[in-house]
Amino acid sequence: MPDVPVIDEPICHTCGVQFARSDPPPRSCPICEDPRQWVPEDGQRWTSIAELRATHVNRVAPDGGLVGIGTEPRFAIGQRALVVPSAAGNVLWECVSLLDDATAEAVEALGGLAAIAISHPHYYSAMVEWAHRFDCPVLLHRDDARWIMRPDPAIELWEGETRELGGLTLLRLGGHFAGATVLHRPDGQGTLLSGDVVQVIPDRGWVSFMYSYPNLIPLPAAEVQRMAAALEPYDFEAIQGAWWGTTVRRDGKGVVRRSAERYVRALQGDLP
Ligand SMILES: [Zn+2]
Ligand SMILES: [Zn+2]
Repeated sequence: MPDVPVIDEPICHTCGVQFARSDPPPRSCPICEDPRQWVPEDGQRWTSIAELRATHVNRVAPDGGLVGIGTEPRFAIGQRALVVPSAAGNVLWECVSLLDDATAEAVEALGGLAAIAISHPHYYSAMVEWAHRFDCPVLLHRDDARWIMRPDPAIELWEGETRELGGLTLLRLGGHFAGATVLHRPDGQGTLLSGDVVQVIPDRGWVSFMYSYPNLIPLPAAEVQRMAAALEPYDFEAIQGAWWGTTVRRDGKGVVRRSAERYVRALQGDLP
């Protein structure tokens, strides 16, 4: 046994992203100091997987026709991941900060994971823990590589606009982050798994697009038009957002098209 206590990899309490072990531990979280996130008024706080295992559990439950995995009580940004079947095996879309035996057993019962893919750094969470447990790669867009706080050989950076993944397509959409990615699933009537790159909002007839959601910083009109155009080649009725129950069930492609047009008009002063 080592003489010094082993300090777990720190997890930022605000964004849920796990950092590599370091001595001394990190003083600040670059993801939360970025204008797209925020640092609490009373300062940076850290936790760890061991602490989360004592205070939180993961709910594994159906959501939008897939299986969702989310931490309860709500932790950090509060996203839930989705297990997405593909021809290459299950893909975990997004990730969460807690991984415990009960969660791992539930995912094993679904057939395990062939890969993890994450839309953008706000959901990097404890991706390396998950990759090690399921012996699978984490696919991230290279344009966001500077935000990886726990580098690991399991992380595979992809480049360009699309990457095929067992019949699914990872599509770099940009906007919220340079490498921000959505996942298109062609099965059935088609589903766009959008994280918050395309944000599902309370009115399910619309979506929105922002540079920062907590700080309410919009995207330029040209960027929103480019994002909508990049989705035009893909057919999808459903859009799955980043939280439990954030599902657009019908006409997803029309919803994106109309929402982008409304957004651009609003930026030009033509409020709906
Ligand atoms: Zn953070
Ligand atoms: Zn985000």
